[in-house]
Amino acid sequence: MRKDHGEADQRRSAGVLADADRAGAGPVLFDAVLLDRDGTLVEDVPYNGDPDKVRPMPGARAALDRLRAAGLKLAVVTNQSGLARGLFTETQLHRVHRRIEALLGPFDSWQVCPHDDGDGCACRKPAPGLVHVAAHALGTVPARCALIGDIGRDVTAALAAGAAGILVPTPVTRAQEIAAAPWVAADLPSAVAEILRRQDSLRPPAATGYGAASAGSAIAGVGDVDHVEVGSAAARPGPDGDGAGRGRTVLVVRSDSAGDVLVTGPGIRAVAAGAGRVVLLCGPRGRAAAELLPGVDEVVEHRLPWIDPAPVPVDPAEMAALITRLTALAADEAVIFTSFHQSPLPLALLLRMAGVARIAAISDDYPGTLLDVRHRVPSGVPEAERALSLAAAAGYPLPQTDEPHLRLRPVPPPPPEAGEPGYVVLHPGSAAPARGCPPELAERIARELAVAGHRVVVTGGPQERDLTARVAGRYARDLGGRTGLAELAAVVAGAGAVVVGNTGPAHLAAAYGVPVVSLFAPTVPFGQWGPWRVPTVRLGDASAACRDTRAASCPVPGHPCLSGVEPGAVVDALRLLGVPPHPVSSHRPVALVGAASRAVPAVASSGGRGR
Ligand SMILES: [Zn+2]
Repeated sequence: MRKDHGEADQRRSAGVLADADRAGAGPVLFDAVLLDRDGTLVEDVPYNGDPDKVRPMPGARAALDRLRAAGLKLAVVTNQSGLARGLFTETQLHRVHRRIEALLGPFDSWQVCPHDDGDGCACRKPAPGLVHVAAHALGTVPARCALIGDIGRDVTAALAAGAAGILVPTPVTRAQEIAAAPWVAADLPSAVAEILRRQDSLRPPAATGYGAASAGSAIAGVGDVDHVEVGSAAARPGPDGDGAGRGRTVLVVRSDSAGDVLVTGPGIRAVAAGAGRVVLLCGPRGRAAAELLPGVDEVVEHRLPWIDPAPVPVDPAEMAALITRLTALAADEAVIFTSFHQSPLPLALLLRMAGVARIAAISDDYPGTLLDVRHRVPSGVPEAERALSLAAAAGYPLPQTDEPHLRLRPVPPPPPEAGEPGYVVLHPGSAAPARGCPPELAERIARELAVAGHRVVVTGGPQERDLTARVAGRYARDLGGRTGLAELAAVVAGAGAVVVGNTGPAHLAAAYGVPVVSLFAPTVPFGQWGPWRVPTVRLGDASAACRDTRAASCPVPGHPCLSGVEPGAVVDALRLLGVPPHPVSSHRPVALVGAASRAVPAVASSGGRGR
């Protein structure tokens, strides 16, 4: 949960860009904001057919006007089972919606589910149908939408469509729903402010312009700024946006595991778009992922003892060798990407000793003269956006020609044993045991999926052959130990969906738009580490005792955050994601696999401008 948002939001409240300012800027995170109606836009009056009972939520009009001024489209997505139950008429509903528009301003689209729970429609939230239709009506896609709602089914619908889901709880919102949400805001104005802040964070700092920073060392120790150029930045110029960075060698750094490196990919692509040559320094655990990232010209591998999860003692001779190696790279500048609990400063010191003139990083700790661009990010931001915002702060916004999505280099074809595309990948293992799926549960999931008609492919590394053999049993194909990361990526690319813990393959799936059933142990925040901008259903107990411990091995006996998941919930999740059982006999072209092919259900549209 994100306790510090309110404050951060207010700090940035002047940062809204008008339509005109957006033109010529890089790609945006969000084109549109979708809003639940009852309990989000207006007070929840059960089955209301009376315009006189419409009461806006506090601050709603001003918040919506901020979104409109920023050029974002708005739609309402609302369950109105009162229609199915005959509790009000369509005419009454239209009157209520006209009243809402009179009070809150116009919406670009209204999407209403008129059905009841028993109707089995594809539009009643938590199904994602309304999100798909609203995005289409607004000329965009769900991944470029944020949905604000007050209960868990709003968030579930958003994530299942691949949109960002923001929960604004009311007294009726369940604690479990609050714990499971990737993003929680105190009220509608705070949710809107954070959407705009995240949108703006992908742009280079506009206020100061590049290299025009104040001599900011006095400011740098203060905790209330997002971004500061420190010291005599004029003597250490970065890119100026006119291609002046094109001849420069930029060292980008991301240590730690494959997943960490994969989610940094968009940030690295942003740097690559403005640099002459990009060298990626990574650790041995991230090497294979580094090789898959577009924009990287050279990979340098070194284990950093202040980052590695199984660190070795610091050896002065080895550190001296690293400095020599870094010096030989002759980098003009460095961008050090980190996760929220890692420090860039030890490496920044070595880079200074290696003569790197300009260094950018996110650091809450006072950096002294170690950083030229010290960037700040509130907690809870998705890791990929965190990286993109650092790149932008360093003068490397993602270019117009790119998209804020994970992306990989072309990979070899999958092993033929995977079978024809459309299977479900079940990946039970994880480098950190606390984030893997309990083997007994994975076995039951494989069986349940097979019984439901899915073809299941079980994947895992060379050390996980026993595990994958056990999980696959006689119900699934076992590819354990048969795939390096590139082949695993190819297997994932051919999948109809991936069932996985919080580990590398979830991010591979995101890179291909393949929906994810995320068995997410809450040891780290879901909002930061959950699959990014891809249809997802989250399963598992989000408020289990391991929450936010960052433990590599589960600290709670029995791994209860995941062991309580019912295999049937995985089958239900695939249904919600629009992934049908896919018998061996059918021949489905690979081009039809993935998020773009999800059927869009017919939805009643009612009231307002969007009719
Ligand atoms: Zn419906």
